[in-house]
Amino acid sequence: MMGTVAYFCSEFGINESLPFYAGGLGLLAGDHLKAANDLGLPLVGVSLLYRKGYFQQRITLDGIQEALYPKINPEDLPLAPVLNEPGEPVLVEVVLKNRVVKLMAWCAMVGTVPVYFLDADIKENQAEDRCLTAKLYPGEQTSRLEQEILLGVGGVRLLRKLGFQPAVWHLNEGHVAFQVLERIREYLLQGIPFLAALEAVRASTVFTTHTPVPAGHDTYYFELLDKYLGDFYRQLGVGREEILALGKVGNQFNLTRLALRTSSGINGVSKIHADVTKQLFQNWSPDILWQDISVDAITNGIHTTTWLAPEMKELFDKYLDKNWELKIANSALWEPVREINDQVLWNTHMRIKIRMLEHLKLPVHLSGFLVVGFARRFAAYKRATLLIHDLERLDRIVNHPERPVCIIFAGKAHPADGLGQELLRRIVEVARMDRFRERIFFIENYDIENAKQLVQGVDVWLNTPVKPMEASGTSGQKAAVNGVINCSILDGWWDEGYNGANGWAIPSVADADQAERDRVERESLYNLLENEIAPQYYRRNQESLPREWILMMKESICSLTPVFCTDRMVMEYQNKLYCPAADRGLKFTANNFEVARRVADYKQFIRNNWHYVQVETVELTDSLIQSQIRLGPIWHGDVMVEFIYTDALGEIWREKLELKGLLSPGVHIYMGRFRFGSGSSLKSEANIRVVPVSPDFANDFELELTTWGRR
Ligand SMILES: *Cc1c(COP(=O)(O)O)cnc(C)c1O
Repeated sequence: MMGTVAYFCSEFGINESLPFYAGGLGLLAGDHLKAANDLGLPLVGVSLLYRKGYFQQRITLDGIQEALYPKINPEDLPLAPVLNEPGEPVLVEVVLKNRVVKLMAWCAMVGTVPVYFLDADIKENQAEDRCLTAKLYPGEQTSRLEQEILLGVGGVRLLRKLGFQPAVWHLNEGHVAFQVLERIREYLLQGIPFLAALEAVRASTVFTTHTPVPAGHDTYYFELLDKYLGDFYRQLGVGREEILALGKVGNQFNLTRLALRTSSGINGVSKIHADVTKQLFQNWSPDILWQDISVDAITNGIHTTTWLAPEMKELFDKYLDKNWELKIANSALWEPVREINDQVLWNTHMRIKIRMLEHLKLPVHLSGFLVVGFARRFAAYKRATLLIHDLERLDRIVNHPERPVCIIFAGKAHPADGLGQELLRRIVEVARMDRFRERIFFIENYDIENAKQLVQGVDVWLNTPVKPMEASGTSGQKAAVNGVINCSILDGWWDEGYNGANGWAIPSVADADQAERDRVERESLYNLLENEIAPQYYRRNQESLPREWILMMKESICSLTPVFCTDRMVMEYQNKLYCPAADRGLKFTANNFEVARRVADYKQFIRNNWHYVQVETVELTDSLIQSQIRLGPIWHGDVMVEFIYTDALGEIWREKLELKGLLSPGVHIYMGRFRFGSGSSLKSEANIRVVPVSPDFANDFELELTTWGRR
């Protein structure tokens, strides 16, 4: 049995009544909590309470998005104020720019899993501080920074006040990374030196990154941080430079960098995204091959029963094992779905579709048409307008005399995202054109409630991201469990989920400029819709059933549901990140932080002496490699020497070299053999790499130091 995991996230999308989320990150976090509850994993969530939420979307007749902020009263929500023994709110204090801000907390229970939301809107604070936590993702930089400090630092203080001693600290996205500074400070108060405290914190911290583009990561100028963290620098007992170095990228402080430097386990949210993340992180340690950067892939999943239509659940109750909800990740469990009577499955789908149309106030007679859903945040990379670019072509497709197609759009653009709002305006404009009446719709205010309707009730779920920008995506997974078929670019989760028979892949092009990619991918999408998807939907047998379509629905449910579920995902977090970090945390702090101190000293020694390390000679004869390497005062047992070759496909080949003797004090001879196939092309690329290693490291490149020697 493992200790508690403290799961920090700037947003949680738990249900319709708690509007503290903006999109996929929050929904994923909410589903993570639900799965932790189902699996009996001890976890506690920490976030902020935004009294104005994200925003509610209204669209004017001209397609202009209006952001409304109805004031939320937490008393009216399923939240309980966190009170102390005399019944007073428990308060924590955080210093912001030389003034003290107080935070109270509200608790929501996700089954047995508590989530705490910190709230600055209390009478103890000055008027201007009461709105610090009003909005999720404020546009102004300083407001974001203030929220991030309140959440990171205040969150740790709250957990301590409530008596939590988490074994693992999970940073879900970089926004919450200031948490680690507070934990280092706690150790300093116990008399642990800064570098040892840093090692102890790193040992028990894990980090999930979600953003494949550098611009998506929060960064702050040092001067701004000085204003906010000045007091903290003093308390951390080291100079400003040492603290800023933890997040330094150029002349800015980057929260993703901070999270990376202070975590022992890191993951991206799909296989493609993990690779993209490695390449992104390599910019910060260019001496390391991107393939060697330690980022695991844990592909997102959804909390299946949250997103499953009640009508489908009834069907599954009938056809699947008793207690199937406890075994969702078991593939074999889903096989009986193939035996569901076609008529029954189709009727169920149609009932859900009609219910969705009614709920969204759309004409119910459209249930006879092929209905495509596209709903997501209006971030530019998701290319909401790809489909409406060529209106003539679109007209032909949606107004086909025998095979009409409806498209339902929904989604919010961030209030500070002008481009996103322009894309949205364009869609509304097209939807209002006469020729697209009853064919193209835009649904206001995409939220959990609308999302449920759409992912349950449309026929096809469309996604058109610019590959590889969709870190994972989860809405398509919600669609899949409901027998809604995905049609998407092979990016994020769909690259892993698509099997050729469970949906459609829109071919994408790499190595072309954006306009050309848009053009080619748009054509592919039009062709798919016109020549494959619509004909298959309207091809009926004697009983008026779309046999092939139903077969694909079944294949989609069976192949995707057991894989892209939070049961599988949270078990992976448990095995790949939580258990190792819990063990490491214990190991590093045991015996008055013996291991943490040792690792800190070791790293210090290696850093101070690494400049001595040099590859002096490299010789290749036949299949033998010999290299003369100067290590200076560094012990040969503390380095790994390898012969490295990267082939054209980016695959790395490595051969470990063995120590053969000492040439002179501090200069060693290393030898090895290569066993590769195509020797000749190899030799010209031959490189020797020296890396400092330690059995106490979480990975071989933890020090981000390497020395290369070319022949
Ligand atoms: C699932 C969900 C998302 C995330 O979907 P993506 O596929 O990642 O874009 C966003 N908003 C809501 C309301 C959702 O339910």
